[in-house]
Amino acid sequence: MSRVLIIGAGLTGSVCACLLRRELQNKVSLVVWDKSRGSGGRMSTSRSPDYGSSSVDLGAQYISATPQYAKSHHSFYEELLSEGILKRLDAPVEGMMSNDGSSHYMTPLGMSSVVKHYLKQSGAELVFERHVTGLYRRGASWEVHGRGGEKEVFDAVVITMPVPQILQLQGDLTELLSPAQREQLDSVRYSSRFALGLFFPAGATIDVPWAVSYIANSPVIRYVAIDSRKRNTESECRGPSMVVHTSVPFGVQHLERDKEDMQPIILQELHNILPGLPQPISVKCHKWRYSQVSVSVPGCPGQMTVLSRPPLLCGGDAFTHSNYDGCVESALRLCDALKSSL
Ligand SMILES: Cc1cc2nc3c(=O)[nH]c(=O)nc-3n(C[C@H](O)[C@H](O)[C@H](O)COP(=O)(O)OP(=O)(O)OC[C@H]3O[C@@H](n4cnc5c(N)ncnc54)[C@H](O)[C@@H]3O)c2cc1C
Repeated sequence: MSRVLIIGAGLTGSVCACLLRRELQNKVSLVVWDKSRGSGGRMSTSRSPDYGSSSVDLGAQYISATPQYAKSHHSFYEELLSEGILKRLDAPVEGMMSNDGSSHYMTPLGMSSVVKHYLKQSGAELVFERHVTGLYRRGASWEVHGRGGEKEVFDAVVITMPVPQILQLQGDLTELLSPAQREQLDSVRYSSRFALGLFFPAGATIDVPWAVSYIANSPVIRYVAIDSRKRNTESECRGPSMVVHTSVPFGVQHLERDKEDMQPIILQELHNILPGLPQPISVKCHKWRYSQVSVSVPGCPGQMTVLSRPPLLCGGDAFTHSNYDGCVESALRLCDALKSSL
């Protein structure tokens, strides 16, 4: 039985784990490490610290299936729809939304429920708060080092973290990259933005006709969603929740500032846009240094095989594009490559 480590409990890592389990069954033992306290990555759903049942999606907001992907990833959509993890997004959206015949879906339990579904299906051993710092080749295995001094040996490693973080890993990975691979990885670019999650008390009303609004005329804010309305989970006993994304130029301009410094500036702009907004009981601010991929690996190959034996593969949205289907596509390519290497 091969022991496979997947680094990253985001969407790509979780779909990859699920596919490997379904295709290789008990021929593999799967382990997933993530530096965060929970799963989701950029599809994270955050709970209010003092208002447990309310939550907001701080990263990805909804899933849009183009007609092509609705067809080629039909089984993925069918599975999530039949389990009730995805539902049609029919709450009102104001402003930009793709007009290319895409179908839009929301997640009643938050975007991280998609990732959690795949991780559960995979039966993988999950280790959170395990920050990988380096990868060292030891004969036919990989020795993987964690920030806390942990060392474990695996037969194969799949890395799904953002590319700049892959390039920071110590050990043998960067040495093994061919000049062409290095150039491809160096060319990857991400947008950056800040996100705010706001939690309001039960009974608070947000008097706007939309659930999601793309803001066209603010230098600070690009997107506001009443998350509970978007997900159709508003109730009298639970207060509404809201998510705010800044514009990319604002995110890039203030990338090196602390999120604590940016929170009041974003809140002030939110009150300018929505003057009657009730007082939130709690606010969370998050900096997405690697938000969405603006330049992906040339040719969007889905994965990069750094070494076939012992297998070391890289994947994630940087190898395709930044959305649900991009991650599924990358996971499919990773799974194919790993099967042939094992
Ligand atoms: C603000 C925002 C809005 C978005 N909106 C949408 C949307 O509406 N619809 C949509 O489909 N997509 C959207 N996206 C894009 C989507 O979220 C991403 O494409 C997708 O989540 C990427 O998944 P991934 O698994 O490839 O990477 P990630 O989710 O980044 O997963 C990588 C994981 O690796 C972990 N990690 C990193 N370094 C280490 C380390 N050293 N050791 C261990 N673990 C590590 C991270 O903690 C993370 O969990 C949005 C993204 C953002 C940020």
